[in-house]
Amino acid sequence: MIALALAVLLALPAAGRKKVNLLQSVGIRYLSAPETFTTYDRLQKTIHDYAEPGYLEYKSSKAIADHLAANGFTIEWGVAGIPTAFIATYGSGKPVIGMLGEYDALPGMSQDTSTVDHPLVEGACGHACGHNLLGTGPCAGAVATAQWLAEGHPGTVKYFGCPAEEGGGGKAYMTRAGCFNGCDAILDWHPGDGNGVSLTTGLANVRVNFTFHGIPSHAGVSPWEGRSALDAVESFNYMMNMMREHVPMEARIHYIISNGGQAPNVVPATAQVVYYIRHPKAEVVMDIFARALKAAEGAAMGTGTTMTYEIVNGNYEKLTNSVIAEVMNNSLQMVGGVMLDEREKAYCAEIMRNSGWEVDLSNFEEYDKVVENGFSGGSSDVGNVSQMAPLSSMRVCTCVKHAGLHSWQQCTIGGTTIGTKALINVGKIFYLTAVQLMNSPKTLEAAWAEYYAARGHDFKFVPLMGDREPPFDYCKGK
Ligand SMILES: [Zn+2]
Repeated sequence: MIALALAVLLALPAAGRKKVNLLQSVGIRYLSAPETFTTYDRLQKTIHDYAEPGYLEYKSSKAIADHLAANGFTIEWGVAGIPTAFIATYGSGKPVIGMLGEYDALPGMSQDTSTVDHPLVEGACGHACGHNLLGTGPCAGAVATAQWLAEGHPGTVKYFGCPAEEGGGGKAYMTRAGCFNGCDAILDWHPGDGNGVSLTTGLANVRVNFTFHGIPSHAGVSPWEGRSALDAVESFNYMMNMMREHVPMEARIHYIISNGGQAPNVVPATAQVVYYIRHPKAEVVMDIFARALKAAEGAAMGTGTTMTYEIVNGNYEKLTNSVIAEVMNNSLQMVGGVMLDEREKAYCAEIMRNSGWEVDLSNFEEYDKVVENGFSGGSSDVGNVSQMAPLSSMRVCTCVKHAGLHSWQQCTIGGTTIGTKALINVGKIFYLTAVQLMNSPKTLEAAWAEYYAARGHDFKFVPLMGDREPPFDYCKGK
């Protein structure tokens, strides 16, 4: 009965009436309560201080999963064979709305919550990308949605605990394992220096380690005995730099020589170069990669060395969905920006002054009115997820202007009540989006029509990194 009443109200043209109704619903009441603020404030600050890096987020993932379990969610641990990945589910049947959460920290970015660059633990990890909030915001949204479902509405909400976003590609492995199959829509966000929904796609990419194996010898006494692995790396790079002219213009190719030998007087037995290949389409990335492989084989042949390679990470481009984005934007307009009190304003102003920036805090309260459609040269493992169901992303303000992500300023502000306010906003926007989608089969139908128009009906996800194991050790010791 309640579902019918809401559905009728949602169908009414009077936007004001719809707005008032949803903003008085159970999930918003829950997320607006002072005790809810205290709960999530504690949770995000706990994860901020754990600051565990990719695939080692044991305590952080457990803290979020425990909270969801305490709110009636069923937890499936260790999905995709990853100990710190989980799926929390509440409700039953269609539609299924997914919410993505992350909780990995960045090596070397430890930071307390003071107004200067000051590590909490010298040399340790820190949440300089705001993933202490990225994980807890959707968690709050999922709990709110569960409360709405508990009133008797049909549908399912799933929280996806996704590890190792920072270079570990957790979601690529979760997508490969089928974790996101069956979702009708998926909601995603990232901390940032503003509030807005975006249709920005980003680039597909692969990260590949090419390792060459030669024969060591004394570079002065008996160089003819040796075969230089570094020669192979240099020959390979030369061919790749020639190739730049003959790949599609949108492609980006960059590399570092991660091992060029130990000393000039020893012919290097081993050398390694790490490549990123990017393009707006995953199939083009894989075409360029196949050509790069030929160049690497040629370099090995010509220098009398051998070559091995490893695709460490592979991400599809993000497939955006304007239908879900519109609903998300509608929700963001209802919630608005992040409102700072005088104490929080003074704190942020001091951080800006200490950083040498002119004080301007307008970005917290302002929010984009329309869905933006920009360009990003970056890549994200969310791209893989977006291939499986209509997905929309947004950003909510967690940081002062100029700082950007992966900065001590993001880390310090994210660990305060300002971060908590932002994550509560995320929870509200996700909740409002989920409820609107659950109430409108027509909207989901339109979202899927757009998805099929882009992907076709028989799309099969082919993981760009093949069948390799997740790089579980990539942050060990950090
Ligand atoms: Zn991030």
